[in-house]
Amino acid sequence: MTCNPNWREILENLLPLQQPSDKPDICARIFNIKKEYLIDLIVKQKFFGEVAAYVYVIEFQKKGLPHVYILVTLKQNYKLTTVDIIDKYISAEILDPQQNSRLHEIVMKHMIHGPCGDWCLINGKCSKQFPKAFMDETIMDEDAYPSYCRRNTGRTFERPGKFVVDNRYVVPYCSKLSMIFNYHINVEIVSSIKSVKYLYKYTYIIWDEAPMAPCYALEIVDRTLRDLTGKNLPFSGKVIVLGGGFRQLLPIKAHSTRSENVNLLIKFSLIWKCFIKFSLIKNMRVFFRRNRFS
Ligand SMILES: [Zn+2]
Repeated sequence: MTCNPNWREILENLLPLQQPSDKPDICARIFNIKKEYLIDLIVKQKFFGEVAAYVYVIEFQKKGLPHVYILVTLKQNYKLTTVDIIDKYISAEILDPQQNSRLHEIVMKHMIHGPCGDWCLINGKCSKQFPKAFMDETIMDEDAYPSYCRRNTGRTFERPGKFVVDNRYVVPYCSKLSMIFNYHINVEIVSSIKSVKYLYKYTYIIWDEAPMAPCYALEIVDRTLRDLTGKNLPFSGKVIVLGGGFRQLLPIKAHSTRSENVNLLIKFSLIWKCFIKFSLIKNMRVFFRRNRFS
């Protein structure tokens, strides 16, 4: 879920002539309330069924708005494993405006990919693989995300800027959640461990801004790599490069004491002794054009 700077709760709290970008504190607070509500809906109110575990990460776009990634694991009997159940929760089509004009508007405004730009194009191709292929029905793939139903109805819709789209451009969403939150909430099913398996392929893993992570995050990566590969070596023998400075942002635990916060540092992780420290002594920013670093 991404923060919508035009949420009524944000606009109502601005002074005359202020823009949402002038008040990142208000945006962050409103976003946090919405995020808490979304988690409450999923975990306590069991929106998708009984939850076994969940984890979330909040990111801020550079100088910008917050967004949250939430990974929910459902209990065995509640897993969304059939096409019918997936279709009940997830859509990837543009609804007829006559059927539900509000949802149509929300999807057209917030759940359409494109036009592609620098942020998604790699060698001239969309890295998110849009436009997707038309699909007559949802298909489960054993080892990947399901391919959601995107029928070729022959209908197209126009977005501002004369960008004409059909069902191939829709980012999968959940109708009910989109209606409640009125913004970009991408909902997808992960039916395999492919998202974790990709860690196999790499010999090197570079972890930027590592001091922001709590020590147990480092230990979880270590343990996961050992489990996945069956090699009982630190990080299963892969080279891990941690980047960052301990004089920048550090992990914070809410309502904790100073020593609890200090103990959260990756420096106090059991695995820290495996790392070798290198200091960066050359100011590389001086040597490059400034706009290469944002
Ligand atoms: Zn794209």
